[in-house]
Amino acid sequence: MLYTEFESIVLPYLRSKDRVAVMVSGGFDSAVLLYSLCLVKSSYKLAVNISTFTVPLHNDSERYSRIVTAWVGNKFNLELTPTICGDPDLAHNQVVKSGIAHAIGVCPNIITAETTNPPHLTDLSSAPKRTHALKIFQPFIGWTKKETVRLSIDLDLDNLVSLTHSCTEKTVRCDQCWQCQERAWGYAVNLYSDPGSY
Ligand SMILES: [Zn+2]
Repeated sequence: MLYTEFESIVLPYLRSKDRVAVMVSGGFDSAVLLYSLCLVKSSYKLAVNISTFTVPLHNDSERYSRIVTAWVGNKFNLELTPTICGDPDLAHNQVVKSGIAHAIGVCPNIITAETTNPPHLTDLSSAPKRTHALKIFQPFIGWTKKETVRLSIDLDLDNLVSLTHSCTEKTVRCDQCWQCQERAWGYAVNLYSDPGSY
């Protein structure tokens, strides 16, 4: 089970920190990541404090981040309301960068939900530039959307992922943008229907 693999990746990290901060976007991967980290903390009764940061992007990401963190916080009885960070007036990739820089200033142990792009979507010009960041912990970096979708199915997270928003173009799913294509691929390869419509 992928969760066992995830646990072996994050457990030494969580045990070595007194606090960590998760970058949430209101999207699929960061929602599954936040839930899974809280599950490991809860299962092992770890003392580590988990907080969240979000960068307000123009696709209403702040609203979705609040919904996602409230859902996960309620499940684990944790206060996870996101701190807003980053300058929304910068270009898209620069906003995220400025947000992470701000977050690191507050909590040095930042965790992001960066995955590896699916091979067939990697060369599209609209593909996000994925980077292995040295200072940031990226437990999903060895996985693609195929694995993060599988993890959400294994953990029975349909209710959570139905609240997430992946599309960067519209408030409902556009089925055209890179993020919509990646998410559709992740569900198709798992032979599973996406429970969400955003
Ligand atoms: Zn879209």
